[in-house]
Amino acid sequence: MAEYSLLSLLRNAMSGNADWKPAWRKPEPKPEYDVVIVGGGGHGLSTAYYLAKEHGVTNVAVLERGWLGQGNIGRNTTMIRSNYLLPQNQHFYEHSMKMWEDLAHELNYNVMFSQRGCLNLANSPSQLDDFARRGNAMRHVGIDAELMTREQVKAFIPALDIDFGGRFPVYGGMIQRRAGTARHDAVAWGYARAADRRGVDLIENCEVTGFHRDGDRITGVSTSRGDIRAKKVAVVVAGNTGAVMKLAGIDRLPIESHVLQAFVSEGIKPFMDTVVTFGAGHLYVTQSDKGGMVFGGDIDGYNTYAQRGNLPIVEDVMSELCAMFPGLARVRLLRSWGGVMDMSMDGSPIIAAGPLPGMYLNCGWCYGGFKATPASGLCFAHTIARDAPHPLTAHFTLDRFNRGYVIDEKGQGSTPRLH
Ligand SMILES: Cc1cc2nc3c(=O)[nH]c(=O)nc-3n(C[C@H](O)[C@H](O)[C@H](O)COP(=O)(O)OP(=O)(O)OC[C@H]3O[C@@H](n4cnc5c(N)ncnc54)[C@H](O)[C@@H]3O)c2cc1C
Repeated sequence: MAEYSLLSLLRNAMSGNADWKPAWRKPEPKPEYDVVIVGGGGHGLSTAYYLAKEHGVTNVAVLERGWLGQGNIGRNTTMIRSNYLLPQNQHFYEHSMKMWEDLAHELNYNVMFSQRGCLNLANSPSQLDDFARRGNAMRHVGIDAELMTREQVKAFIPALDIDFGGRFPVYGGMIQRRAGTARHDAVAWGYARAADRRGVDLIENCEVTGFHRDGDRITGVSTSRGDIRAKKVAVVVAGNTGAVMKLAGIDRLPIESHVLQAFVSEGIKPFMDTVVTFGAGHLYVTQSDKGGMVFGGDIDGYNTYAQRGNLPIVEDVMSELCAMFPGLARVRLLRSWGGVMDMSMDGSPIIAAGPLPGMYLNCGWCYGGFKATPASGLCFAHTIARDAPHPLTAHFTLDRFNRGYVIDEKGQGSTPRLH
């Protein structure tokens, strides 16, 4: 508890910060575990934590090919919301939101969860009607949503050009005030430390290169650090799902990998204390605690495993940002990066046992898996420990695409870039 006390901060400041203890162990892989989790991203780490905490399953290894948090958990724009229309998504994401509200306390780690609200701007009357429908559906199940008029939007964000240069006038918007942001890498570190303390082995620089099978049953994995037997193997590798599942002989999945880019500007004086999205196109932006504008837009349109995107999307995103906030046009861009998204064909995730016996799959998070990190881990751990789906995720099956029970929040069909 006293690890990060004022006293220890002062002591370490005086001694050149050389005495801090590592936040988690660096164990050698054991020859066998009850559960092996492939992928040390947010979802893999939270799954390990809830396996140990909720089910007492502690003989668990998380195998990460690089360092913990090198993937999308450390690359996202950190926006958290539960403003969904479909009941299958509403209950799951609202449960996640409630977990976020207590996460810093749960992990004893400051994840900097900031409920600054998320405002979706409507750039046409029909879009405002659509938001009214979605907001009503949310309120019907107890999730907060408010419709805002054009005047209320203007008063809420004075820096916004309410007419987007005359081209896309704002008709109003829908705000979820409990939505917001968190610090992404703190979430990875918090779950990692908490899982480690419950006995989970976190094994970095350990790439899974193959699966062991006894007939159809998965019995372990080959890795860059040797073979590991396991009673259960969970695959949680986000944008690398297709490549990793191929190692197990599964070469057709309803997932495409695309790069999504994110951007951050130099720090400027605080002027906007919310997340806001562009209705006529696709842009989401907030201002970080350090003052930088953090924003992103669409995925690049082609399939790739590269973590670096192309200029047409950069141009799109910048033009949308400048249409909304002309005052930002001369602010300098500080950094941009990309992450590989696991885009599912209906925009909703997969959390399920299978497709082979002894295997469990968690993927399909598209642009929105950061906000799901707590509930995804909780529900996936339940699926693994009990060999039964958690009630909140029972519909996120893999076979729904064969059976026609898709969960298409936006009604866009099987075109990943539209989800
Ligand atoms: C630019 C960007 C912006 C985003 N913005 C948001 C947002 O604002 N809000 C939101 O909710 N979501 C957002 N997301 C989505 C969110 O980040 C992801 O859906 C979520 O982080 C995916 O789950 P994860 O954290 O487990 O994935 P990851 O962190 O990618 O974890 C997967 C891990 O698997 C590892 N791995 C892969 N192959 C192997 C192997 N063979 N062996 C061992 N390990 C392996 C990888 O190295 C990686 O660390 C964004 C994503 C990006 C890229």
